[in-house]
Amino acid sequence: MKAWEQNIRRVTPYVAGEQPNKQNMIKLNTNENPYPPSPLVKAALYKIDNLRLYPDSNVTPLVKELSKYHGVEENQVFVGVGSDDVLAMAFMTFFNSDKPILFPDITYSFYDVWAKLFKIPYEQPALNDELKIVKEDYYRENGGIVFPNPNAPTAICEPVEFIEDIIKHNQKSVIIIDEAYVDFGGESCLSLIDTYENLLVVRTFSKSRSLAGMRIGYCIGNADLIKALTDVKQSFNSYTMNQAAITLGVESVRDEAYFREHIDKIINTREWFSDKLRELGFSFGKSKANFIFATHESVSARDIFMAAREQDIYMRYFDKPRIDNYLRITIGTDEEMNVLLDFLKKYLDKK
Ligand SMILES: *Cc1c(COP(=O)(O)O)cnc(C)c1O
Repeated sequence: MKAWEQNIRRVTPYVAGEQPNKQNMIKLNTNENPYPPSPLVKAALYKIDNLRLYPDSNVTPLVKELSKYHGVEENQVFVGVGSDDVLAMAFMTFFNSDKPILFPDITYSFYDVWAKLFKIPYEQPALNDELKIVKEDYYRENGGIVFPNPNAPTAICEPVEFIEDIIKHNQKSVIIIDEAYVDFGGESCLSLIDTYENLLVVRTFSKSRSLAGMRIGYCIGNADLIKALTDVKQSFNSYTMNQAAITLGVESVRDEAYFREHIDKIINTREWFSDKLRELGFSFGKSKANFIFATHESVSARDIFMAAREQDIYMRYFDKPRIDNYLRITIGTDEEMNVLLDFLKKYLDKK
């Protein structure tokens, strides 16, 4: 290795689910919303006309709208380019201890990537055999805690008291709860924000608000946490949120009726699809997200994944210890889920 090469930061990047672009494909592999965003979003898109100017680096219009929506102060809200941006900034800002941060062995696979990127030591307590988080594993010295609730890719949601117990046992580090999927029927811990100064709740517009392509995420927490986060962000890159994203994000938050209607649709699809999937010999815990994490009693997940892919039906398969016999299936429209069920019936019959 040449001398200059020794100073290069080498990382193993996060690998996102594939983004094929085929006609008539059924794409159930990256937890996108099958429905378009609110019509208010599209209407506003054609009226965006101030692109000559830099956007507001504090994202004020969207911060205001979100603070009204959640009933918190404006200085308790931070907005970023997708929750991945918010989470990366939060790792940089809050996880600066020599003690390891903690997150589950089976969870969102970006956490260990950021930990390595920022040279943050980490440990990963194992989920139990039901793929649930064991809260007592987090009752020990640490440099911070982060996990999604509902967890990904398991879709299992823990109640607020469970989260509160973990926070109560951890008053010396920052706890980040990633609520990417909470709108699909999970319990939010936003109600704990005013009681616990060290709690940060992260949200995204990518799943429940059908805006994955716009890249909007945010977090809510104590004003001191938000100030620290903003200072780090403003030391890194001021103008990350583009003008269009700010404007369209505001419109999305304003259309509560559309939001609720489409969340309900997805939940309804998830519930009937869950029953049908069980009838086919799959088992899985109760999903509170817009996806199901399932394993089949006799046929390998990898075989099902590959065969479906041949038919342009995309699901997510993780070739990782403990979960390599599971499929993560995003909830699409009723029609899409019926096509998947037809495929599964035929495929499993032949096995
Ligand atoms: C999808 C997802 C995110 C990232 O979403 P963005 O599109 O970056 O807002 C963060 N956390 C979890 C658990 C996710 O599944």
